[in-house]
Amino acid sequence: MVRAFAFLLVAGLAGCATSAPAPIYRQPSTPSYQPPPSYGPSVYDSAGRAPVHSMLIACNRANGSNIGEVNYDYSLVQYTPYLDTPAGPLLRAPTEGACLSSGFGYRGSLDRGRQHNGVDLANPNGGYIYAAGEGVIAFADYRGGFGNTIEIDHGRGVRTLYAHMAEFDTRLQRGARVYAGQPIGRMGMTGNATGVHLHYEVFVDGLLVDPMHYGRPPVYVSAPAPDIAYLPDEEPIDDDKPSD
Ligand SMILES: [Zn+2]
Repeated sequence: MVRAFAFLLVAGLAGCATSAPAPIYRQPSTPSYQPPPSYGPSVYDSAGRAPVHSMLIACNRANGSNIGEVNYDYSLVQYTPYLDTPAGPLLRAPTEGACLSSGFGYRGSLDRGRQHNGVDLANPNGGYIYAAGEGVIAFADYRGGFGNTIEIDHGRGVRTLYAHMAEFDTRLQRGARVYAGQPIGRMGMTGNATGVHLHYEVFVDGLLVDPMHYGRPPVYVSAPAPDIAYLPDEEPIDDDKPSD
């Protein structure tokens, strides 16, 4: 009887807020990020994974710098959708749909030019930008002239960088895993950019490589007709000889 009375007394005190009001603000046990309401996570959850482009068109009738060789329809000669790296294949053009407006390497005149450390994939309508391959987010923040920037570590010394994004999936904090072709952001022109495009860089073992040409299968060309003097000392093959 006494024990039951004591329990009631304690319970009554715990439920009473008049003598000691509970603090209004409570520190959450785990930090929780609230994405801005304008672009909730559902946008990136419902967006499909990266399309694999069979060709890439040079913008502006191939008048951009460092575009390289193009076909009659301004598509890049020898374009392949993936570049082979020590971390596996990566998308050469991780965009929803864009043309190549500027290639990799030194551009401009010798006195006023500068090295372009990546490629520019442009689309005035924007569109999604995708993780070029599976990896871990190494950087996701605003970075000066690069604007909204994401860096992905693909392992084995391979990293990719995506700059000038209008926005990125804000759940992609450092350390978050992404799958190959996952939509990570949207194309924009934040930072130092003159038009809506993705500035895309690929690092292999700390070195910047050309995303359009690195790891491309070797190009085989027909050798020049050999001089008769250098022909190997062999029996000539007679194709017309009937087989036995
Ligand atoms: Zn660029």
